[in-house]
Amino acid sequence: ATEREAVRSAIERVAARMEEEKEYLTDLDSAIGDADHGANMDRGFQAVLEKTDGMDDADAAELVKTVGVTLISEVGGAAGPLYGGSFMSASAELGDGITAESTVAFAEAFLDKVQDRGDAPVGAKTMVDALTPAVHTYKKSIEEDDLEPVEALTKAVDACQRGVNFTTPIRAKKGRASYLGWRSVGHQDPGATSTLCIVEELQETAV
Ligand code: ADP
Ligand code: MG
Ligand code: MG
Repeated sequence: ATEREAVRSAIERVAARMEEEKEYLTDLDSAIGDADHGANMDRGFQAVLEKTDGMDDADAAELVKTVGVTLISEVGGAAGPLYGGSFMSASAELGDGITAESTVAFAEAFLDKVQDRGDAPVGAKTMVDALTPAVHTYKKSIEEDDLEPVEALTKAVDACQRGVNFTTPIRAKKGRASYLGWRSVGHQDPGATSTLCIVEELQETAV
């Protein structure tokens, strides 16, 4: 398949997964937020599906940029601008095509942008807690362990899952959940969970 087709199938997988997880993500957000994360992500990726449908002349980077622009415009709240801004700016790293190296650069740029915009350190109980180990593990697996992207993504999924688990026992210091203070302890972070879903679907696409 061409790179455009690969990106398109990743988009389709992620959109289907967000639809599937809509209630679950919203349940998680109802415990420590405002009960809209599932609806936000589902609405955003349904819009992405529509926007990218028929972009037959677009290359991979243009498609990924459209994902970002669409999430920014369709998803409000914290997650829309964070995910959207990252897809948008990291898409530039795929301008010369999708390779092991360019996907590492994409992953790092994605994480950088989330941190730039959201200013959340690891341990604040946000998507950063899932994304950081996923990105670091992906990079190390490619650059140091010489793994193929699909194997590196499998490692990244495991690391991401551990990051999601880590959000449960800690106290939120960023986002709406931080308003709860200690009462946020014991609940899994919805944004970290949606990050895991996305990384899992990327791994499935790469297989
Ligand atoms: P909102 O909280 O505005 O309703 P969502 O419910 O869609 O937005 O997304 C909530 C998720 O956004 C949280 O679970 C958390 O992972 C993530 N989040 C919130 N604030 C930040 C931040 N400053 N940096 C990184 N992620 C954040
Ligand atoms: Mg919310
Ligand atoms: Mg909201």
